[in-house]
Amino acid sequence: MNNHDLFLSAQKYIPGGVNSPVRAFKGVGGDPLFIKKAKGPYIYDVDDKEYIDYIGSWGPMIAGHSNKKVLKAVHKAVDQGMSFGTPTEQEVTVAEKMCKLIPSMDMVRMVNSGTEATMSAIRLARGFTGRDKIIKFEGCYHGHADSFLVKAGSGVLTLGIPGSPGVPSAVADLTLTVAYNDLDALESTMQAHGDDVAAIIVEPIAGNMNMILPLEGYLQGMRDLCDKYGTILIFDEVMTGFRVALGGAQELYNITPDLSTFGKVIGGGLPVGAFGGRKDIMSHIAPLGPVYQAGTLSGNPVAMTAGSVMLDIVSKKGFYDDLAIKTQNLTKGLKEIADKNSIPFHTVNEGGMFGMFFTENLEINNFEDIAHCDEERFKVFFHKMLDQGVYFGPSAYEAAFVSSTHDEVTLSKTLKAATFAFSEL
Ligand SMILES: *Cc1c(COP(=O)(O)O)cnc(C)c1O
Repeated sequence: MNNHDLFLSAQKYIPGGVNSPVRAFKGVGGDPLFIKKAKGPYIYDVDDKEYIDYIGSWGPMIAGHSNKKVLKAVHKAVDQGMSFGTPTEQEVTVAEKMCKLIPSMDMVRMVNSGTEATMSAIRLARGFTGRDKIIKFEGCYHGHADSFLVKAGSGVLTLGIPGSPGVPSAVADLTLTVAYNDLDALESTMQAHGDDVAAIIVEPIAGNMNMILPLEGYLQGMRDLCDKYGTILIFDEVMTGFRVALGGAQELYNITPDLSTFGKVIGGGLPVGAFGGRKDIMSHIAPLGPVYQAGTLSGNPVAMTAGSVMLDIVSKKGFYDDLAIKTQNLTKGLKEIADKNSIPFHTVNEGGMFGMFFTENLEINNFEDIAHCDEERFKVFFHKMLDQGVYFGPSAYEAAFVSSTHDEVTLSKTLKAATFAFSEL
């Protein structure tokens, strides 16, 4: 079937034709692409068209698609059996590697998605502190558990809805929201509610409202407030973990959260999530403690094998330095082309991720600032690039991802396509 026929069929049997709303082209118009294979920085749709991929499965494919080492190890693991429902050696290997690489992590529990990781981390924080309220930030996304679908990021932003029907107000009311990068607002919220707040959960670099860096001192201020009120600080590093630096954003900014959550890169493309941190807190999880959390396929041996190889790949000396240079060269090139065409445009980058903003505002600090960017212009840009075989996230609220396999050739092809796209805006 060609792409269009597949999409028609998909819509008949799958709501909206997609198994995750961010894949639909709701924010840009047109049919989503059905991809049949991928290699290095390239993906190929069912009509055999090649694209340079800046989504990377929304983050996991940091070493490029179909990485030979990952594939080989996975093939071997599959031959040993798919799942046993027992402890395995692979889980220990991955847990040990994560605890060594992530500054704040004494112990870790593996789960199957980022959503499960954040959901479980919040339950643990509540169980540990005996408090019910949590604080999150406007435009941050922490998966689709009930507590987090309050002023959440990209997926819901693209659909233009603030929360979600189906989340009981009794649950949503326990989630307090504060504007990102506004330490004063956080401080007054803590003054009013701090003693009832189990956890503050934050994307240390916001990557689900395009990409927003934390202002100088912001995360430290958050850490101090948590210490003052006995609140658990949770860094949601599902996106930034093993993406912006080997030790995640916590290493980059030198802030130690109490708990942190991971996903995406650590599964190497298979469904994996993890949450971990301080030993005294993690010891409250069953079977060591009373806070219940479980999973039939958690720590699956095939997924752990992929994750383990992935962690070895990114641990190679210079991996993140090389990646950051590629990302910087790309964003610098895009900015130069925009300037030549007098298009108001701004970019940010860190490690292997970057954000693009069609705006004159050079300081994008929170959701309000993102909402004032020119979304119509982004849509045109997106389609002009896609037509030329360059695939960005289909929404002005998504960050973009670079892999270690993006090279000089993909870079110059991308900039050439951008030269045409910007000239047409
Ligand atoms: C992707 C993401 C999640 C959710 O992970 P899933 O695996 O999609 O459930 C949670 N938090 C952040 C910061 C994310 O980027």
